[in-house]
Amino acid sequence: MTDVEADQSPPIVSVSQLHKYFGKNEVLKGIDLEINEGEVVCVIGPSGSGKSTLLRCINLLEEVTSGYIWAAGHEMTHPDCDVDAARRDIGMVFQHFNLFEHMTILQNVTIAQRKVLKRSKAEAGHMARQQLESVGVGEKVDAKPSQLSGGQKQRVAIARALAMQPQLMLFDEPTSALDPELVGDVLAVMKELATQGMTMIVVTHEMGFAREVADRVVFMDGGVVVEQGPPSEVLTDPQEERTRSFLARVL
Ligand code: ADP
Ligand code: MG
Repeated sequence: MTDVEADQSPPIVSVSQLHKYFGKNEVLKGIDLEINEGEVVCVIGPSGSGKSTLLRCINLLEEVTSGYIWAAGHEMTHPDCDVDAARRDIGMVFQHFNLFEHMTILQNVTIAQRKVLKRSKAEAGHMARQQLESVGVGEKVDAKPSQLSGGQKQRVAIARALAMQPQLMLFDEPTSALDPELVGDVLAVMKELATQGMTMIVVTHEMGFAREVADRVVFMDGGVVVEQGPPSEVLTDPQEERTRSFLARVL
């Protein structure tokens, strides 16, 4: 791709004037956000500021009240949007892993490939083993989730998402439920994914990860984007008082 073409490629995520109410509670108050292919964006902000709701609106796990969302080639807010097709292209990793406890690790990573992508058992199994290997839990294929540590479970959840070959990955506090000594392994997997060029939106409290891996940090508070920019600016020299006081509490 020439530089000219790169400059012209449209954003992979475009959110415009996104509003979300839960009842009378306006949780997202007009979010505008564009993310380019290959970009790693870390979303930070206090608890209750709307970070999870923003991620969940992007793949329509929450109904959008008003506004426009384009993601991974799909106009999510179009009334005729094929949500299943869109979610195939958008991987999501949750704080609490959300593995199927009664299935083996291999089954966890093959089921959506089989059911949604209609891959053969052999094909899905091959992809699963490859992805599990790449996140360092290749030897766990026959185990049940209950036999794994939190860090291993989260790496399985990442492998499961990657096996669908998504164009975009959403992470909602992927390390917040982990014992401190297990956080590093999961962050290392995410860093490697970023290095490979995956487009990622990561809600996180891991400021070290944001500083090192993010191309851009978005600070949210009270349902709005207060400020955003490269980590070297937002985390080191924030322009807004709300960002400064948040960082003073977490850094
Ligand atoms: P964050 O992820 O930044 O902590 P959330 O997006 O989870 O924030 O929540 C933002 C606000 O929306 C909070 O006030 C929360 O109580 C409210 N909220 C989130 N999910 C729901 C829901 N399903 N029903 C009602 N209120 C909700
Ligand atoms: Mg949250």
